[in-house]
Amino acid sequence: MGKHEVSTPKYIANKLMAKCLQKLRWYCQMCQKQCHDENGFTCHMTSESHQRRLLLFPDNADKYINNFNKEFESGYLELLKRQFGTKRVHANRVYQDYIADRHHLHMNSTQWETLTDFVKCLGREGKCIVDETEKGCHVQYIDRDPETIAMQEALGRKEKVDRDDQEKMMAFIEKQIEKEKEFSKNYTPVFAEFVRQSEEYKVVVNLKLKTKRDEDMKNKTLVESNSLKNDYKKGGCSSAGNNKDWESGRGRGEKRKLSALDEIIKDEENKK
Ligand SMILES: [Zn+2]
Repeated sequence: MGKHEVSTPKYIANKLMAKCLQKLRWYCQMCQKQCHDENGFTCHMTSESHQRRLLLFPDNADKYINNFNKEFESGYLELLKRQFGTKRVHANRVYQDYIADRHHLHMNSTQWETLTDFVKCLGREGKCIVDETEKGCHVQYIDRDPETIAMQEALGRKEKVDRDDQEKMMAFIEKQIEKEKEFSKNYTPVFAEFVRQSEEYKVVVNLKLKTKRDEDMKNKTLVESNSLKNDYKKGGCSSAGNNKDWESGRGRGEKRKLSALDEIIKDEENKK
């Protein structure tokens, strides 16, 4: 009995997966033909079409294998990059996604016997970071895209500038602290009583604050002076008689001049 109970979903899934993986072995990459089982594959191997291709194969064997290698590698890497970015991931997980495409290039037509062989080769060629644990091989894509590299470099430069700025700031602060320490070492404060040496030195505080009371006073005097003016105007009118110019007021300046004149007249009248 297997790991899982018969007829459970997990059991069926495992069976299906095993069957799929098994089928990969019965694929002829050269003819791009999938056979159902070992029997079918043997039949295909002896078929005329396959034999014809096989006759051509020795002349172009290297070319074939090279192309298969390249195609498999680029397909695997492309998927790794697209699906997982630069994250570390189990090599087999990527492979499972890769073979999910029915038209993928099959590994049995490449130079690599196993996935581990292939992945280790990627690591040796510096196309991936590869590490092997007891759980299997893990791969991590190395992004060599010029744009990404340029971006990373720019980011690195910016970080360096920021770091330099911070270091400069720290150095400056430390210098200031040192200076302060040096200064306080030489300086001893003398505490003495405050004595006023002369009465001449007085502190005078002159604050001109506009209070509400001041404002009220100002308004009051304004009203008073206005009423005075009015009274005086009435008096002026009576004394000037029917002088029309006085009433209409030809101009402000003239009116003021007349007022001054009127004042003298009034004084004279008072003396009498
Ligand atoms: Zn074939």
